[in-house]
Amino acid sequence: MSGKHASPPPYPSLPRTGVDVHAHLDGPRFKEDLEAVLERAFAAGLAQIIQVFLSPLAWAEGRAVFAAHPEVYFTLGVHPTEAQNYGPDTESGIREAVKKDSRIRALGEIGLDYYWKDCPPPLQKEVFVKQLRLARSLDLPLVIHCREAEADALNILESEGFVDYPLLWHCFGGDENFARRILDKGWQMSIPGPVTYPANRTLRAAVASAPLDRLCTETDCPYLAPQPVRGKRNEPAHTAWVIAAMAAARSMSVQDLWTICGDNARRFFAIA
Ligand SMILES: [Zn+2]
Repeated sequence: MSGKHASPPPYPSLPRTGVDVHAHLDGPRFKEDLEAVLERAFAAGLAQIIQVFLSPLAWAEGRAVFAAHPEVYFTLGVHPTEAQNYGPDTESGIREAVKKDSRIRALGEIGLDYYWKDCPPPLQKEVFVKQLRLARSLDLPLVIHCREAEADALNILESEGFVDYPLLWHCFGGDENFARRILDKGWQMSIPGPVTYPANRTLRAAVASAPLDRLCTETDCPYLAPQPVRGKRNEPAHTAWVIAAMAAARSMSVQDLWTICGDNARRFFAIA
């Protein structure tokens, strides 16, 4: 009878116009029920999902399960915590994959991560620069992962000439000032589940301050589940709660913001 096991609130009712711009659906945590997860995603209002592959091998092994789901598009890139695995074969593997698979729409997630201590920063920076130059040579947009490394990431992106390049700052978690620094460079920001956490006023203020044409929504699933299911496995359908928090922060219609963020994502990933 206590509220301890209360079921989460229903999703807001949404048109099928949304995009989850960052999902990791190829791992073991979705092996058993991927079809049901995708069904729930589309029922909740997602029109497309961007699946992130973290190596050419992950793409080669993982893409088959999405063959019957043309609404799922891909990004491919080596995560900064795995920079030690990046070699000449990785680079040629990414080139081959992009040539073969028109569903790969961006290079990423790439960047810097000084939170996890898996890989030393100098090596991360070296691999970041290599993948930035690869993205430019392939003419692909960028999806950036940055954790506790903002100053270095911005320095590298500026010195490599990526101001005004199509770039999505994934899992944005900063404040209004940091949002301005991203937006001033012409980039997009993508908002994850933590925007729903009651204490996270800072992130909601950043969302409220951003121009409407620069915002996207994401899960980063299976990680970062929003408040109603916090601590559990995240899944794309839960972007419905993310957009509800974002719309509340901006005092606007959740359905309108959902479609606007979806349109931003489709523009970014060149989805017709
Ligand atoms: Zn990710």
